[in-house]
Amino acid sequence: MARYTGPVCRLCRRERTKLFLKGERCFSTKCPVSENSDRQTRAYPPGMHGNSRQRQGSEYLTQLREKQKARRIYGLLEKQFRNLYEEASRRPGITGTTLLQFLELRLDNVAYRAGWGASRAQARQFVLHGHVTVNGRRVTIPSFRCRPGDVVELKNATRENFNVVRNRDVLDRTVPGWLEAGDNGFNVTVRVVPVREQIDESIHEQLIVELYSK
Ligand code: SF4
Repeated sequence: MARYTGPVCRLCRRERTKLFLKGERCFSTKCPVSENSDRQTRAYPPGMHGNSRQRQGSEYLTQLREKQKARRIYGLLEKQFRNLYEEASRRPGITGTTLLQFLELRLDNVAYRAGWGASRAQARQFVLHGHVTVNGRRVTIPSFRCRPGDVVELKNATRENFNVVRNRDVLDRTVPGWLEAGDNGFNVTVRVVPVREQIDESIHEQLIVELYSK
């Protein structure tokens, strides 16, 4: 599956906020978007006209930026994201919340939430390289949607992996309430589908729904 492979810090500059796409670096003074950054940063969007073009804050622009932000946080391309929205809109309930639930239940995101990957991109790589199992079976599809009751586990051989050990020691992330950690944090069980309050990303999902339903 295709994915964005370009520089990711420019995505944060574009959205004018931290998207936490680089793991440990995002929490250091090396982050160019951080207020206490030790880097010479350009406080305007990337691109040839980033500094010169004064953009008016139209309703459409606000909605577009919110959609792009959500898409980039979870590392999806437009078509995948749109398809997910279409599926969410066909389900009963609040479309925006359902969309976020679909995003959270992706296998790469669960591996990230479990604290194995420093970023969703790294967690995605663990999945792609066959380091993660679901209910005892190897699954190499990052978009695999977990369901309540599923047990997601890191393979034994990977538990000593330098990156995994470092991420667990340094980042010290806590597992969200909708997951239950077991086996010293090397497996997580999906307890329930997360409710909106359990999804701590600052995304205004209603703006995304408004954009796509035009
Ligand atoms: Fe974004 Fe992380 Fe780069 Fe900072 S270090 S700009 S949060 S990707």
